[in-house]
Amino acid sequence: MISVSSVDLGAGVEDLVLDVLRSGQLAQGPMVERLEKQFCELVGTEHAVAVSNGTVALIAALQALEIGPGDEVITSPFTFVATLNAILSVGASPVFADIDEYFLIDPSGLSAVLTGRTRAILPVHLYGLPAAMAEISAWAAAHDLAVVEDAAQAHGASVGGRRAGSFGVGCFSLYATKNVTTGEGGVLTTDSDAIATRLRLLRSQGMQTRYKYEIQGFNYRLTDLQAAVGIPQLDRLAETTARRQRNAMVLTDGLEGIEGLHLPSSPAGRTHVFHQYTVRVDDSARLSRDALADALLQDGIGTGIYYPRAVYDYDCFRAAVPVFPGSHPIAERAAKQVLSLPVHPSLSDGDLQSIVGSVGRALHD
Ligand SMILES: *Cc1c(COP(=O)(O)O)cnc(C)c1O
Repeated sequence: MISVSSVDLGAGVEDLVLDVLRSGQLAQGPMVERLEKQFCELVGTEHAVAVSNGTVALIAALQALEIGPGDEVITSPFTFVATLNAILSVGASPVFADIDEYFLIDPSGLSAVLTGRTRAILPVHLYGLPAAMAEISAWAAAHDLAVVEDAAQAHGASVGGRRAGSFGVGCFSLYATKNVTTGEGGVLTTDSDAIATRLRLLRSQGMQTRYKYEIQGFNYRLTDLQAAVGIPQLDRLAETTARRQRNAMVLTDGLEGIEGLHLPSSPAGRTHVFHQYTVRVDDSARLSRDALADALLQDGIGTGIYYPRAVYDYDCFRAAVPVFPGSHPIAERAAKQVLSLPVHPSLSDGDLQSIVGSVGRALHD
């Protein structure tokens, strides 16, 4: 079976975890600090603040910016539900702008959803391809809005030579399937001293020094045991990312020219880190998206549908999310057509050829 994701923690991880166990310091400590330094270097920001997961990173970013009830946050309708849950959990109102052909929020649709209550824009760097951050940053600055980046899938991705997570408050996930994992974990990145200070306060009960409370806080901390799992992966992230990119190239070379199959592409100046290799299967293809997934499964190839619906399109959100049906046609079409093929760094050349062969057999006459 070729699975759609795989975990490879790298050499050295067991020794590092044992160091933590033997140190007796299991909660946040020097390993978390080491992981934060690695993120500063990776993203190129002054500060990195590790937290317990990516959802908490998004929540903490909004809280640090003091976004709450009465405020609107513009985001993508085509994302993992954590993006929406974070906005709702601080009491703010999500507002959706449709995506473009790259599955990313379309900057040309932003002005249409701007209101006097808009406080922030929250682009999602879906599948590892960063959103149009030059355009989005300029637009946000012109309208005095904060930028929070959902970079949960985009460790090391870049736009115009600048890393994802360095344009606003960057929010990364270290969940088990992400390009860097600690099992559960998250990291925020920022150049702002004030926001970093607030994030550190929020993370630890509002305390700078013990029992001296500055603001109302939470416990958002990551443990040293978790951080130790992530450190060796960050050391070789350039290598594993290059492997993902190479695998994507092999898939694209093998799959080009199939009727009804749209392959992923990147706009000029943006570096895709291929958290997922996601194709679109349109109505002119020989099989439907779901039938293609079944055919691949028959050949022992796992796939994923990220995501099967627009994020707001669930009964539990209808009351909280005032959207107009059909107002995000590109996101809704994507939800019906996307299929992610395995692209992870542990794939062999044989695995890649099996995937190409299986898709080809399924979609050619
Ligand atoms: C994984 C993910 C998150 C949430 O991260 P967790 O660590 O699972 O809480 C948020 N947004 C996107 C786009 C994600 O893929």
